[in-house]
Amino acid sequence: MAFSLSDEHTAIRDAVREFGENEIEPVAEKHDREGTYPEALREKAAEYDFVAPTIPIEYGGAGMDKLSSTIVTEELWRADPGIGSAVGSAGFGTDMILEFGDEWMKAEWLPRIAAGETASCSMISEPAHGSNVAGIETVAEKDGDEYVLDGSKMWITNGTVADVGVAMAKTSPGEGHRGITAFLVEMDADGVRTEKIDNKLGIRASDLAEVVLDEVRVPEENVIGEVDRGFYQLMEFFASGRTNVAAQAVGAAQGALDAAIEYANQREQFDQRISEFQAIQHKVAEMATKVEAARSLTYRAATQVEQENQEIAAQYSSMAKLFASEISVEVADEGVQIHGGSGYVTDYPAERYYRDARITKIYEGTSEIQKNIIADRIL
Ligand SMILES: Cc1cc2nc3c(=O)[nH]c(=O)nc-3n(C[C@H](O)[C@H](O)[C@H](O)COP(=O)(O)OP(=O)(O)OC[C@H]3O[C@@H](n4cnc5c(N)ncnc54)[C@H](O)[C@@H]3O)c2cc1C
Repeated sequence: MAFSLSDEHTAIRDAVREFGENEIEPVAEKHDREGTYPEALREKAAEYDFVAPTIPIEYGGAGMDKLSSTIVTEELWRADPGIGSAVGSAGFGTDMILEFGDEWMKAEWLPRIAAGETASCSMISEPAHGSNVAGIETVAEKDGDEYVLDGSKMWITNGTVADVGVAMAKTSPGEGHRGITAFLVEMDADGVRTEKIDNKLGIRASDLAEVVLDEVRVPEENVIGEVDRGFYQLMEFFASGRTNVAAQAVGAAQGALDAAIEYANQREQFDQRISEFQAIQHKVAEMATKVEAARSLTYRAATQVEQENQEIAAQYSSMAKLFASEISVEVADEGVQIHGGSGYVTDYPAERYYRDARITKIYEGTSEIQKNIIADRIL
């Protein structure tokens, strides 16, 4: 296992960092305050291959490996988690299309998403079923050569801005996780209604919605993969998705640390910079150590995902997601502390990292669910 990045990985990091400093950081506070989705920035990021970077070159993407896309996510979130989320999640659901979709789905949608023209969404969670994916109640009933989807999807990232989504629905309702199928749904289809959720704690530039599927008719060719195999298909991407959230958490933590160091080096109390107090130095040392440990575990998970060893990738990605999200919240909290009163107001980015980092403990499986997964594999 390599403990240093290749020249190519380092170049990708430098390029995303430059984009983050020049394009994202100057507008981050405004998008957070106004809760606006940064569509123009998504399009611009696509010009540099930072949107859905793993989409293969033949479909207009950059064909990046998992470690490269992990670095892209980390750096976007380091610049700003809200905009990082908006840009980084534009390709939600494309893994499913790429791996299990028919050629027409890939040809029609992947180039548009990679080009930043549109976003996609992944509709799994429901009002009554989040952690327990197998419990979903949205149904898809066969009617001639169509399926009719009926149900309600909750907490859907990109719900109001996506043109296409992957919806999980029960095709065999009595069969639990063995009765779920993935469907490609065009978001302007009759019966699709979206309602924006705009009272979020953090990542406020990222779009979030409830999506109602009210007797939505899709042709049977919109089945992605096999009927009743959707849950198993989904499982194949959880390791990749969780590694991605771990990278988000590392990026947010690094951003919070950078902001804290900058502030500590300029703020003076008792006629000296606060960075000269050992109490502050120790905080920064602990923060930096946690970030580096989380980064190492995240890169290791990315490497396992790339090697497609599913069992090991599942374990490492859950460990990385659990650890990185927990330390991200701790580091962002200490970042606020180092800022004193200035950490409690929107004049500095410290409070934003604190609010934004919190989501990483919740989505793609909560910390409690990650512990269940890890324990299942090692006991
Ligand atoms: C900003 C945001 C974006 C999101 N984006 C998407 C998206 O794009 N697509 C999508 O489908 N979903 C998305 N989600 C949904 C997210 O994945 C769920 O919120 C998450 O899985 C938790 O589900 P829940 O909210 O229903 O909580 P619940 O499942 O009700 O959990 C509540 C509490 O119970 C605990 N708990 C539940 N089951 C167990 C158990 N077996 N053992 C121990 N503890 C348990 C949980 O850890 C948690 O602490 C998003 C959510 C948010 C907030």
